[in-house]
Amino acid sequence: MKPIKRFVLVLGDQLDLHGATLRGFDFKTDVVVMIESIPEAKYVWTHKAKIALFLSAMRHFAQNLTELDYPLAYIKSSPLSIVEALKAKIIDEGVRDLICVEPGEWRLKQEIEQLARELSLRLEMREDDHFYCSHQEFSEWVADKKELRLEYFYRLMRKRHNILVDSQGNPEGGQWNFDQDNRKSYPKKGPGIIEAPALFEPDSVTKEVLEFVNTAYSEHPGSLDYFRWPVTRDQALEALDYFVEYRLRNFGVFQDAMWTDTPFGWHSILSSSLNLKLLNPREVIKAVLQAWKKYSLDLSTVEGFIRQILGWREFVRGMYCLDMPKMAQDNYYNHQRSLPPWYWTGQTNMACMKDAIGQTLKYGYAHHIQRLMVTGNFALLAEILPSEVCDWYLGIYVDAIEWVELPNTAGMALFANGGRFTSKPYIASGAYIKRMSNYCDSCQYKPEVRFGEKACPITTLYWNFLIKHRSQFESSPRTRLMTANLKRISDEDQKSIEEHAKHILSNLNEL
Ligand SMILES: Cc1cc2nc3c(=O)[nH]c(=O)nc-3n(C[C@H](O)[C@H](O)[C@H](O)COP(=O)(O)OP(=O)(O)OC[C@H]3O[C@@H](n4cnc5c(N)ncnc54)[C@H](O)[C@@H]3O)c2cc1C
Ligand code: SF4
Repeated sequence: MKPIKRFVLVLGDQLDLHGATLRGFDFKTDVVVMIESIPEAKYVWTHKAKIALFLSAMRHFAQNLTELDYPLAYIKSSPLSIVEALKAKIIDEGVRDLICVEPGEWRLKQEIEQLARELSLRLEMREDDHFYCSHQEFSEWVADKKELRLEYFYRLMRKRHNILVDSQGNPEGGQWNFDQDNRKSYPKKGPGIIEAPALFEPDSVTKEVLEFVNTAYSEHPGSLDYFRWPVTRDQALEALDYFVEYRLRNFGVFQDAMWTDTPFGWHSILSSSLNLKLLNPREVIKAVLQAWKKYSLDLSTVEGFIRQILGWREFVRGMYCLDMPKMAQDNYYNHQRSLPPWYWTGQTNMACMKDAIGQTLKYGYAHHIQRLMVTGNFALLAEILPSEVCDWYLGIYVDAIEWVELPNTAGMALFANGGRFTSKPYIASGAYIKRMSNYCDSCQYKPEVRFGEKACPITTLYWNFLIKHRSQFESSPRTRLMTANLKRISDEDQKSIEEHAKHILSNLNEL
């Protein structure tokens, strides 16, 4: 038997044949190790579709490796954690060298480093090349900043990577940001015909995984009946092509719009493929720029999309690496309530929450505004313990990996880090949801009513939040405007809002 010199660990979200993990692979002495760990899907209560997506994509990737003659140790359905299973394998084979790409989860990174110390391994942990901005570059950017804001980081990235800038470094179209052209609601009659996204019938590998997940994780939340996610690189590339050809044109304008039974809108639905590394952000941006010219798309939609990938995706990842582990513990408002059980079932009378959670349970997907301004907004206004909310987001979305989920949930949606990278809490009353959707039309509550039986719980809790934090909001120019409207509400009505909010907050499970 030939001696195994090095193990090359490929994690379930690092499925790139041409990425950093397999760089310099020595076919004579190296072995790829992939581990399916049952407990990994249990430490947060994980949606069946998320488990199935990871397993199916891993098994397809393993098939690719075998076809290409990579020596592979694939550990199926291990009862151990990833690191425990890896440790057993390393000890079994007497391996001294371990190569991997930095995990997208802080906990796993610590555990692998600890394992290397414990077994005196030579560990080569490579930087993930599925990001434009390295840790070093992000730290350099942060170093001289008083405030960490997406906008300035994004401009730097545009210039540095020569994306939508002219030869002088000025923004294409004369402005960095086309937000005012984007973010409209759908017309009153509804969204009309939206090109469906590319969806993929399960093949035999996926079907086997679906059966396995339905049995092994039968009590887990969510459905597998609608599982059509890309699970291979070819499918992810097809989904990208399809998106830029048919759906990108309306992405920008309707990116914030919501409508009942319209789960995907004009969104790309590429996050899971990007996060599993089936796609590289560089090829996504390249395809978008090509489509801009080829289909004469509006600059506003192209810029709006690129901002998400080159701006937000890079920015939140930088913040995660910078602020962990503190980010996971922050609780600026000291909120302590439990997450209402209907987050796991969608059984609530609030039409907006029912729709956003309902589609989440069906597909493992909701778009950004549903996550931020519906489920996230409610969780903040209802004063839910941030760690419970974060665990829900991490478990329930197919694209959820901690480096991207946590900064979005704790940092953006919940303001749990006190505005470290956002200027104010993202809170809104039912009026915003009414403006951006048709949810309120079918709801038993009324978005404009602030207290009483018909009052929209989100509206009541919104005003209650402003009353409660009034002095703090007024002390900062960034939030002062938010409380200005309180002056138009009489003292008596403010008392009634507070009373009604108290009632709601003590009966969250009944909403
Ligand atoms: C509370 C909360 C939790 C979130 N959790 C996750 C998560 O676990 N995983 C995840 O990938 N995204 C998360 N997001 C960001 C965003 O909602 C999703 O990336 C997006 O909805 C995925 O759908 P899409 O591919 O259709 O995206 P599109 O709207 O089509 O956007 C294109 C791409 O831009 C990137 N992107 C867009 N917004 C963000 C953002 N805020 N942060 C990072 N990347 C972004 C994604 O890669 C996405 O695929 C979260 C947002 C919020 C408010
Ligand atoms: S009335 Fe309130 S709870 Fe009902 S759908 Fe509108 S915003 Fe949501």
